Amino acid sequence: MFLEKLEKFARDAKKAGYYPTIRDIEGPSSGTELHIKGKKYITFSTNNYIGLAQNSKLIESAKKALSKYGVGPASARLMSGNLDIYEKLEKETAKFIGHEACVAFSSGYMANLGTIVAVTKPPYVGAFSFFKKNKPVLVISDELNHASIIDGCRLSKSEKAIFKHNDMDSLENILKKNKKAQKLIIVDGIYSMEGDIAPLDKIVKLKNKYNAALMVDDAHATGVLGANGRGTFEHFGLRATDIEILMGTYVKAFGSVGGFICCTKDLADYLKVSARSYVFSIGVPPSSAAATIEALRIMRADSKPRNNLFKNINYLRNKLISLGFEVLGGDSPIMPIVIGSEKKCIQVEKILFEKNILAPCVRYPAVAKGKSRIRVSVSSEHTKQQIDYLVSALAAVSKKRG
Ligand code: PMP
Repeated sequence: MFLEKLEKFARDAKKAGYYPTIRDIEGPSSGTELHIKGKKYITFSTNNYIGLAQNSKLIESAKKALSKYGVGPASARLMSGNLDIYEKLEKETAKFIGHEACVAFSSGYMANLGTIVAVTKPPYVGAFSFFKKNKPVLVISDELNHASIIDGCRLSKSEKAIFKHNDMDSLENILKKNKKAQKLIIVDGIYSMEGDIAPLDKIVKLKNKYNAALMVDDAHATGVLGANGRGTFEHFGLRATDIEILMGTYVKAFGSVGGFICCTKDLADYLKVSARSYVFSIGVPPSSAAATIEALRIMRADSKPRNNLFKNINYLRNKLISLGFEVLGGDSPIMPIVIGSEKKCIQVEKILFEKNILAPCVRYPAVAKGKSRIRVSVSSEHTKQQIDYLVSALAAVSKKRG
């Protein structure tokens, strides 16, 4: 049977040493230290960028919501599961970002999938007169966009044009060739495997020049970039409303669970009846919604964690560069160290693990073949000692292995 082939694939990958090690974490995984088989490890594989995942105020809010609402909503939001706490979460998120409205999804992946399909392939074509002459939408996507964007484009079966990563000439060439088409440009704010930032100032100019709409996945940037942590647009001095569809996730800087889209009130209302991952799936657990609302309050009130995060980013990046490592990325918490070959990269991950450091090797299909890398990410919670320990371990590996 065809499934046997797949089972063999998993067995063979394990035998050849290519199957990723999926480790059981004993206790919380979001701190800078975690436990595996009774041993303590320092982790540089975190998205808990400003340390909110274990914040006592978030935990307290989640506990209260658990007592009030129970563990789950038991129904989709369009049926009887539209808890008032979801409405509050959306209102607070829209206010923080600076858009008119917000739609919360069960995850960032679901937000991307549901939204991309709904805006490029409206489900009601034929049912309402104004959809009858619907022109197709051309999706113009950066080649290194996140998997959830790629999957959204695939699911929508829209026409696609891919531009070279962060290359504005490549983007403009596509826009020029498709002047008359309805166009949606989609980019990440911070690229999850590169750590670099999309030049949103230039992209906004181009999308205005060529009358395209813009969607930005700011999963890694909300709560991190910009004077108030509002994201990549703020980093470039833009307004949130310069971006028609601004996507984010509550699982990274917010330390919680869920995804969101910020946009106009009318588009949000459209998504609430058209994005299938919203209509036919459940909302986040109410305790997670409560924790996120508290995270938003803290983000607005306290810039210290963000300042500390940037102190750590600059400290680690400068150390790695001075040691001669090829470090990707820019002003962001993600600092991939390029190793190249998969085999070597897996070895480096192993050696670091033996030194009680968790810094994962990412490889194909997450990145291109031959571009394997140790994906280091840093948080506001890392101490100077922990960062120094990582740097000295990497220096030792590099000396020993060339
Ligand atoms: N977009 C990007 C850029 C991401 O890195 C991720 C998560 N890794 C997602 C979307 C999906 O978010 P979630 O984990 O909330 O599904």
